[in-house]
Amino acid sequence: MTEARPASTTVTPTPGALGTPLSPHATRVLLLGSGELGKEVAIELQRLGAEVVAVDRYADAPAMQVAHRAHVVDMLDAAALRAVLDAERPHVVVPEIEAIATQVLAEVEASGVRVVPTARATRLTMDREGIRRLAAEELGLPTSPYRFVDTFDAFRSAVAEVGLPCVVKPVMSSSGKGQSVVRTADDVEGAWAYAQTGGRATASGEAGVRVIVEGFVTFDYEITMLTVRSVAGTTFCPPVGHVQVDGDYRESWQPAPMSDKALAAAEAMAARVTEALCSSSGCGWGLFGVELFVVGDEVLFSEVSPRPHDTGLVTLVSQDVSEFGLHARAILGLPVAAPAPVGGPGQQAAASCAVLAEGTGVPVFDDVAAALAVPTAQVRLFGKPRVEGGRRRVAVALARGADVEQARSRARDAAAALKVRLA
Ligand code: AMP
Repeated sequence: MTEARPASTTVTPTPGALGTPLSPHATRVLLLGSGELGKEVAIELQRLGAEVVAVDRYADAPAMQVAHRAHVVDMLDAAALRAVLDAERPHVVVPEIEAIATQVLAEVEASGVRVVPTARATRLTMDREGIRRLAAEELGLPTSPYRFVDTFDAFRSAVAEVGLPCVVKPVMSSSGKGQSVVRTADDVEGAWAYAQTGGRATASGEAGVRVIVEGFVTFDYEITMLTVRSVAGTTFCPPVGHVQVDGDYRESWQPAPMSDKALAAAEAMAARVTEALCSSSGCGWGLFGVELFVVGDEVLFSEVSPRPHDTGLVTLVSQDVSEFGLHARAILGLPVAAPAPVGGPGQQAAASCAVLAEGTGVPVFDDVAAALAVPTAQVRLFGKPRVEGGRRRVAVALARGADVEQARSRARDAAAALKVRLA
């Protein structure tokens, strides 16, 4: 790891004014989380002249490979996180994952550092409970019925109250870890056990993972509303449709076909929830992935992440400015307008298809040329240093087409052609 630069002579930039990296006039941005989404954010920030510092719990994470400096720390360790913040003295702190000691973010925000979008929004969205209660109980947005439980007995009662089928998820988890569907009474014990072991470990490592039990929504389709809050107000990307397998994103496309009524409801809901998250402190600038279920013209709130979303990888080929570019502009205090589609005739739709590797080893892509031979296809190879057992997303294939079906079929073909192995 490179060393933190001495912060003796630095000038605090005003929002919207940008300096030069590695100089006293640098705008220093600290990324907490350095995966593939953070890597794209780092690239976009550097295009705008920001000095980027990447942090994650393992070395050589994707965003570290393109950052000016990097630090390896456990971001749930408040003391370790404070030490990095003291060493780097960033102007902007950008959480890219949920598992962060959020009390430290509140402290740095109080000291005048911009936390993206705000320290409170980061805390409320760090687990499923804060945001669900805000959306359903404070804002009254429609959601699936739900219960939060800590013990097996309470879990059994919650399943009975919510009814079958229901979805079980650890409150702190992502990518489908620990998530399962209870369809019959026989699934109850297994779902509890899986939620206890499959989700992410808690900060203190204590046993007893808190779990949400949600009514299963038989949605027609699900979307992500990429919502940008900037100094110029709130704007939206066209809706992103997606397919998840076992709670993990596999394919996404844009624009997701929707009725005008459903789209209006989705935008209104996304505006409300992002406003409520950001209302009380900080600037509240940045891009949010608001996940919604659509049934006919009705829209149900599912969850929101206050950062670029994996399903939004499709925007790398669908828009003039991707979700990562929009995020970078917003967090640096620049105004953001609605992005323009880039596809010309025959390329009005775009799609992404995740490339997964399973097992242990270093990802090697044997036939990138074959993937790129698919019309309009592009790939992003994330540069993840290793896959350590289990299944991990290591690349994405992207393509455009005359309609969603053609774009999806091209993205799938490119993903299949990429052929990843673990060396
Ligand atoms: P989440 O991690 O909450 O975004 O869940 C991941 C995926 O699981 C969602 O995108 C849905 O495809 C599915 N899912 C989650 N909750 C529910 C639910 N209550 N009903 C039906 N499907 C769900």
